[in-house]
Amino acid sequence: MRDKIVAGNWKMNLSFEEAIHLATTLNGWVADNQPIPQVIIAPSAIYLQTLLEGVDEQYIKIAAQDVSTHEKGAYTGEISAQQLDSIGLDYSLVGHSEQRQYHGETDETVAQKMEQLYAHQITPILCIGEQLEERQSDRHFDVVKNQLLQALKPQIVENLTNLIVAYEPVWAIGTGQTASPEQAQEMHAHIRQVLLEEFGVELANNTSILYGGSVNASTAEELFSQPDIDGGLVGGASLKYEDFTQIITSIKA
Ligand code: PEP
Repeated sequence: MRDKIVAGNWKMNLSFEEAIHLATTLNGWVADNQPIPQVIIAPSAIYLQTLLEGVDEQYIKIAAQDVSTHEKGAYTGEISAQQLDSIGLDYSLVGHSEQRQYHGETDETVAQKMEQLYAHQITPILCIGEQLEERQSDRHFDVVKNQLLQALKPQIVENLTNLIVAYEPVWAIGTGQTASPEQAQEMHAHIRQVLLEEFGVELANNTSILYGGSVNASTAEELFSQPDIDGGLVGGASLKYEDFTQIITSIKA
């Protein structure tokens, strides 16, 4: 059966000292509050190794925020899946809407990154979600289905063992405008149905589908109580210890 997961996307925030302080404080809190859903944090790349060493992986998993489409070579500024694997990293976000918006990420580059991650046994947290105008013109189900299927090319599906999907409607990210529990649940059910039809019951049942987009301590409980919402990908609120721990406790482990 699938895991309940709360993942924090720290984006480009926190100094080195702040990152260590937040991660180690969280680690202590998670250790003291078992059983608890799986907690994952995605810090800036320069902190990955220190945090991997600084937290206990049975309590907190560390994820990269992005990965290169390439295996290795002359790609200044990029970080490969092979390099992430070489420091012992097991998770990476891929296809985040901020990468799509600011760095020209396309469904094609997302598929290449997925392939790199699977080649190095790193579990992707695949981010998909529609723009506001796509929802307003009633295309949101098709857009999300297309993003999902483009990311799961046959050569990837062949090696598919672990997959986490994060449904993040772009209009809800960082805007304070959370999708309603009904809107989120119907999209999560749609994503699970697509997984079922295309790849079979095992993948559909075992894939944790997280909701992301302005989750906060007061909206988390109702969102996470929906049958197809297996947890959250949390941006802004994951930077605040009180809010993030309250969000984690909103979900039944
Ligand atoms: C995100 O960046 O993945 C996210 C969900 O951000 P926020 O919670 O701040 O909307």
